[in-house]
Parts: sequence; C-alpha cells; structure tokens
Amino acid sequence: MIQRRPTRQVTLGDEQHGIVKIGGGAHGTQPAPVSIQTMTAGYTYEIDTCVAEINRMAAAGADLVRVAVPMKKDTEALKQIIPQVRVPIVADVHFHFQRALEAIEAGVHKIRLNPGNISDKKQVAEVIDACKEKKLPIRIGVNEGSIIERKDKQKRMKELGGVFSNDKHGHFLAIMIAKLEEYLEIFYERDFYDIVISAKSPDPTLVVAAYTEISKRFDHPLHLGVTHAGPKETGTIRSVVPLGHLLASGIGDTVRISYANDPVYEVEDGLEMLYCLELRERKGVDLIACPTCGRIQVDLFTLVQEVRETLKAEIELPIKVAVMGCIVNGPGEAEGADVAIFAGDRRGIIYVQGQKVANVPEEEILAALLAECKKFEAKVKAGEAKLGEKVVEIAPPDPIGELGSGFDKIAKGDVEKVPGITPLTISK
Ligand code: SF4
Repeated sequence: MIQRRPTRQVTLGDEQHGIVKIGGGAHGTQPAPVSIQTMTAGYTYEIDTCVAEINRMAAAGADLVRVAVPMKKDTEALKQIIPQVRVPIVADVHFHFQRALEAIEAGVHKIRLNPGNISDKKQVAEVIDACKEKKLPIRIGVNEGSIIERKDKQKRMKELGGVFSNDKHGHFLAIMIAKLEEYLEIFYERDFYDIVISAKSPDPTLVVAAYTEISKRFDHPLHLGVTHAGPKETGTIRSVVPLGHLLASGIGDTVRISYANDPVYEVEDGLEMLYCLELRERKGVDLIACPTCGRIQVDLFTLVQEVRETLKAEIELPIKVAVMGCIVNGPGEAEGADVAIFAGDRRGIIYVQGQKVANVPEEEILAALLAECKKFEAKVKAGEAKLGEKVVEIAPPDPIGELGSGFDKIAKGDVEKVPGITPLTISK
C-alpha cells in the first residue's frame, strides 16, 4: 500500500455539488482519496454547452471541474451554470484579479491563481480576503510556461539565460520555489492556509523534480499535472509516467491530466491510473484482455472494445473480467478474474469464478458475457458471491476436443467443416 505524504487538508463544495476534500493526514485530518479533476474545453459564457460539458465530466467521474473565466461575461454565466451542475466548480483566473472576485460572488467553490500573471500584492490580498470570508480554497499554480518574467525585460533576460544553461532543471526549480515562497508569504501574512499548490510543465522529468522538491518544503496538498501534454495518443504516456511515479512515491492529492482531446479522456485515464495504484476504489468493471498473437481465433480487438463499452454502461460493480484470445495462455491469465472468456475456433467458453458456464459461437460472445456478468453482479449484491474471492483454478478445456485447432478431430471425422464459418465449428 502506498504511504501518502501527510498534508494539510482543504475542503470545498457544498451539499448540492458534493463535498471534496483534498489532501490530509496532517493537523489531525484523515487523508482524503486522491481526487480527479478536469477542465471544460468550451466557452464558459455559452451556458448550456458549458453545463452539458460539466455534467458529462461529472458522469465520467470528475470530482471537480475547472472553467476558464477570461471575461466578465464568463463570471456572469457562472451564476446560471453553478445551480445547474452537481460537481464543485473551480474558476481558473489569469491576468484579471477582478474575475476571481466576480467568480467568488457567483458562487464558485475554489479559485486558481497564477503568480506569473497576478502578482500585485494588493490584488492578491483582495482575492485571499474574499476567499477567506466564504471559506474557499485557492490553488497557486506555478506553471513552467508562466513563471519566467514577462514585464521586466532585464529580469526576463536573466531568467531566460538559465533556460539554456546546463542545469535547466535546477534553474527552473530555483525560480519556481522562489516565486512560490514569495507568493505564499502574502497568504501567510493574512493567516490563510487553504492552499493547494501545483507546479506543472510539459517536461515530465521537470514535473517529477518540481513536485518532489515542493513536497519537501511545504505541507500544502499538491495538484499534480503535466501541462499541455499533447494529443491523447502520446499525452497518456507523457502524463502517466511522471504522475504515476509521484503518486507511487506518496506525492500528490489531486490530479488533472491535460490532453488536446475530449476532457472525458482526462477523467477516465486519471481514474484508471489511481485504480492501478490502488489509490481509489474502482468503480465499474476491471477489464483485462490479451494482446493477441498468431494463435488468435476470433476478432478479439473488436470484441474487447464492444465488451468495454457494453460493460461500462451495464455493470456498476468492479467485477474483474478477462477476455482471452485462446486457451493456450487464457486460463492461466484469467485465473484472477471473476468472469473470463477464452476464444477459439470462432467460439468462446465463459467461466465464472472458475466454473464453466457457457460455450457460444463468436457472434453470441458479447451477449453471453454480459448476461453472465449481470448474473454474477446480482449474486454479489445478494451476498451469494464475493468479488475476487479467490484466485480460481481454471482447468483448461481439452484443446483438441473443445476449442483447439481441431485438426486431429477432423482427421478422425469428429468435427464437421461448416461452409461460411471459419475455420471450424464443433460437432454436437
Ligand atoms: S491468450 Fe492466446 S491469443 Fe491471446 S496472446 Fe495469449 S497465447 Fe496469444
């Protein structure tokens, strides 16, 4: 079990939107599960679209959703959006501290500030005081892309110089920590500690170094992310490698994956990462499937996608399901599964906790598997079966007689060859 770093805890949300705790374990608090967040991709002022997007993210499992509020019409829209959704909303504020004040007034549950573009002490203090009054937390996001000075040319040249130095990481880390310490001072002066910190970068090694360094210096909960991770196809690895490493080291209290794609993927992949690390209790089916090889005897890739979509919609318990392409390795690989199917000769044999329950042609595998999963789920709910009760021993079917190549049986005349069904069916 991963030992998480104890932090202060922040709490946000309300009865309608749900209460979310971030971090914990220090100052007498219990650690909260690592939360998953994402951000809307559309315009906040397009109220109906924004509400629909937030609801889709919440349905996918997002614990909190952030929205951009670059214009006054965005914070105005929040007044109508917030009552229509059921997940806490975070306002992402850049450049204009007034947007933060307006968002707080509109009923937002958390504010994100960027020290790189809202640095005026008086303005920051105003936002802090408004949050303090409404008991709202603030995330301080020191992203690599916005910590290099922009207004003061001389300072900027000096900071940029380090970017091309041999110790690029050391240079960035020094700037991040210095700016963070300077910014935090404004919060501490006002006795404000409901703070979450993030230090994102598109560079995965810098992400690991930055969060590791910050975790040693501050006890505020950490919001992990690899910013601008790119398209999902490459962004998954770019995100999950550093974030998984940090989480496995006990660092990180809330996560946002950032893809140039539908934000629902961010939620799904973030949750899957937490499930794999056992940092969250899984909701829905835990699907394993073989990668296929030269022994494959059904269209497994299509079958796995169909199984995933169908079971995601139909099964709520975390039943472990294995979809295996053949009986060579299938039984061994599926022994830890509650429900397993091995394919062969365009058929599938289905097992439930080690008991063979069905043998169906390929076109009926999906329906039969769903039916068995539903039956098993009902039994678990009725207390008649337990999830993952034991590693079951699955005795493989006779590879020749039941699902194997059948060549020996053909030779003996035991298996009939059916035109149009490839390559074989089993004689009954
Ligand atoms: S289960 Fe069979 S088809 Fe799938 S990878 Fe293993 S040996 Fe190949």
